[in-house]
Amino acid sequence: MTKRPSPISATVDFDADGIQHGFLKLPISVDESAWGAVMIPVTVVKNGDGPTALLTGGNHGDEYEGITSLLKLSSSLRAEDVTGRVIIVPCMNTPAVMAGKRTSGLDGGNLNRSFPGDPDGSVTEKIADYFTRVMTPMCDVVLDLHSGGRTLDIIPFGASHVLDDPEQQRRALEGAKAFGAPYAMMMFELDAAALFDTAVESQGKIFVATELGGGGTSTPESMAITERGVRNFLIHYGLLAGEVEMPAEPQVYLDMPDASCYVQSEHSGVLELCFALGERLEKGDVVARVYDMTRSGSAPVEYRASRSGVLAARRHPSLVNMGDTIAVIADIVDSLG
Ligand SMILES: [Zn+2]
Repeated sequence: MTKRPSPISATVDFDADGIQHGFLKLPISVDESAWGAVMIPVTVVKNGDGPTALLTGGNHGDEYEGITSLLKLSSSLRAEDVTGRVIIVPCMNTPAVMAGKRTSGLDGGNLNRSFPGDPDGSVTEKIADYFTRVMTPMCDVVLDLHSGGRTLDIIPFGASHVLDDPEQQRRALEGAKAFGAPYAMMMFELDAAALFDTAVESQGKIFVATELGGGGTSTPESMAITERGVRNFLIHYGLLAGEVEMPAEPQVYLDMPDASCYVQSEHSGVLELCFALGERLEKGDVVARVYDMTRSGSAPVEYRASRSGVLAARRHPSLVNMGDTIAVIADIVDSLG
């Protein structure tokens, strides 16, 4: 059955040259606003013919490197600097960003688990559907800026995926490297089916994702990496003039071949991480200890590394519950793809 058109309408003209700031408007009817709308900010910068890049932050509402850097870019990018079209959406899941949460403050939806979406679904599913059926077909390349949010802290990397089409995979991987973060990653997703990544990749478009820190805030270091990376991405795919600026230290390549990279807690308690982010560890090393906070005098539960590699991500809060990811160990590799 064919889906009806998206209920979201844009207040900008995506085909007009110059710079426009507006909204993607989704009608809602809630207690606070009977005939209201979710207002998703969007900036379109177009200068003649050329590729179209879509830059998205706030897919998860508590991941501030992307949100902040794209808000900055939307007020500084000039049309005359661009070849083609740059579409900037700093707060993709606006109700989540407004709530300061990973998921929507309106319906609890996790946007990046809601693709391809549904025009007749929840608010979050309607947003996903718009990006799948309206935004992605307009684009050649997509950069979706994630970081750890409130519950994770992650080393900074550009990432792409293993794809069926080797040329599409190669072009995405080159973009993930050119983002110019200290690390580049071939990423294994725990469940890829409902990701924005998959919705874009399945249309044959180039998709680059990032992780850039976390803890529910940004730092001068993570902001500098993010802003340089966004610029590098636009230069690499021909939307901005200039040279890609790589980090001073050689970029480290990481691979996550399977689910054994994820260390997940089987206990609740207080978490002690035994390695710092970016530190190398060996198979069998104690990665973390979880302490029972309901009594003193009992030994902690130890979690050991099931593989050697680098600590790529860690749980950020010290309180941990059963099932939480407490660490991610990635392989250091000589080449990717
Ligand atoms: Zn995210």
